[in-house]
Amino acid sequence: MDPREELEDLIAQAIEHLRYYNELGLTQIGELSPPPSTIIKTSQFIPEPTSAMPMKKENETAPTLFGEPSLFGEIASPAAETQYANETLEDIRRDLGDCQRCKLWSTRTNIVFGEGNPKAELMFVGEGPGADEDATGRPFVGRAGQLLTKMIEAIDLKREDVYIANVVKSRPPGNRAPEADEVKACIPFLFRQIAAIRPKLIVALGNPAMQALLNTKEGITKMRGQFKDYPHIPGIKVLPTFHPAYLLRSPDKKREAWEDLKKVRAFLRGEL
Ligand code: URA
Repeated sequence: MDPREELEDLIAQAIEHLRYYNELGLTQIGELSPPPSTIIKTSQFIPEPTSAMPMKKENETAPTLFGEPSLFGEIASPAAETQYANETLEDIRRDLGDCQRCKLWSTRTNIVFGEGNPKAELMFVGEGPGADEDATGRPFVGRAGQLLTKMIEAIDLKREDVYIANVVKSRPPGNRAPEADEVKACIPFLFRQIAAIRPKLIVALGNPAMQALLNTKEGITKMRGQFKDYPHIPGIKVLPTFHPAYLLRSPDKKREAWEDLKKVRAFLRGEL
């Protein structure tokens, strides 16, 4: 490339970078990421088995996903949970099929299963598809999704490095929060996605995602920024933070969200 073009390209990239830090509410350069030499790409990260995160051995049964009392009633398994050992995301998508397990099927356009790196060390979980996601069949592609993409890039990752999913896979009409019967019908699929991906960390975006993942009635304002254990698989952590749609409505909360994102980055780098 012509050196002048290269310089222009670099300047454009720097401007774009500064723009999204600005969108996250950052004002001081000192808070930006460390030099690129210290950046670890997620694709380079292969989790080592630890006592806190046992790797599944052959013939070992899958972690407990079902049959546990929850906020949404007992999450029933259609069959023995060992059925789900070693399944892939494709297996889970096939099983979901043209789902009619709750009333949301009648108003949706597309199922939004989730997308991203099937071996991601980091997962983001939202509550359910909005209008843009329903129209495209892809998670977090509307305005909130664009902010989520910027949040991911702000911690030196790309959208393709992570996996993005929702608690419910069909759009609740009028963007209302998913109801308990809808969560109960759909959440086994999210649990199975998590079991297939085995991320190190799940970022729960907003109240419904946090409450469903942690089986708690606590609110996001109290819980955000705290690492919690994912109840179904030892070794996986959950970090609740504000939903990007909330951040769009309440930009003054972006600073707290950025504090949470810095913890995500430090955790993935093994600094926490
Ligand atoms: N909000 C969500 O919770 N999920 C999406 O996929 C989009 C917006």
